[in-house]
Amino acid sequence: MLQAQIMDADFYPIVVDTHPAARRAASRRQAGSHRAAPARAAARSRAKLLFGLGALLLCLALLGLLGVRAAHWNEQRQQTQLLALVNPWNSVEHAGFTPELVDIGGGKQLDSRCAEALGQMLADCAAAGNEPVVASAYRTRETQEQLYQDKVRRLIDAGLSQEEAPSIAAMEVARPGTSEHELGLAVDLVDAANQALDQSQERTSTQQWLMANCWRYGFILRYPNGRSGITGIIYEPWHYRYVGPEAAGQITQLGVTLEEYLSMFYSEEANVVFEE
Ligand SMILES: [Zn+2]
Repeated sequence: MLQAQIMDADFYPIVVDTHPAARRAASRRQAGSHRAAPARAAARSRAKLLFGLGALLLCLALLGLLGVRAAHWNEQRQQTQLLALVNPWNSVEHAGFTPELVDIGGGKQLDSRCAEALGQMLADCAAAGNEPVVASAYRTRETQEQLYQDKVRRLIDAGLSQEEAPSIAAMEVARPGTSEHELGLAVDLVDAANQALDQSQERTSTQQWLMANCWRYGFILRYPNGRSGITGIIYEPWHYRYVGPEAAGQITQLGVTLEEYLSMFYSEEANVVFEE
């Protein structure tokens, strides 16, 4: 009898019944959750896509910004190089760059940044009825050394002492390492009919045209009359230095030398040394 009761109990499944209203609510929740699952997944993937796009746009914007900064830095570096001060107190090494030389004809070379401007200036000068000739462009250290030593020797031959000759020579031919010609940014231009490197150059129509117009092409007459105390070099109405059109225009308008211009606007950036 006892065994029969136990067996009967085993045959009755345990059913936990709930209130009909609760069952309906549970059923609705279940149905609702089945419908919401794909919508939530779609919303999640949309959010992921938007986040990815946002991150991509941010990266592109940052890269663009970096590109603009890099171009600006490069421009500044180029500008600083074009304004490099080379004089008896600031050597070519101080300028901190090596010229990228290109041929300009006649076995001469110049830095690529001013070769084209020189070509245009000479063409326009010739078109105005003049005959400009490039007497000297880029010089190696060895050439400058030779020119300087020749000058010292000539002065000694002319009667100057061994002590006096070097410093007087340096006023006319820069000591090796302090010549703008070693930068590749300077040229000596003369008139075909008068190729003497002396003050008579200023009377030629070629020099008069060049002095009046060189700034338009980014060049300045580097050693003007009466400024030897500042430049350290005698008046040279044939030596033109490329500084770029903007600086050349300002220097010409202000009527100053490169030394004065740099001390006015660039002394800190250029880290230049001026005569005491
Ligand atoms: Zn020169």
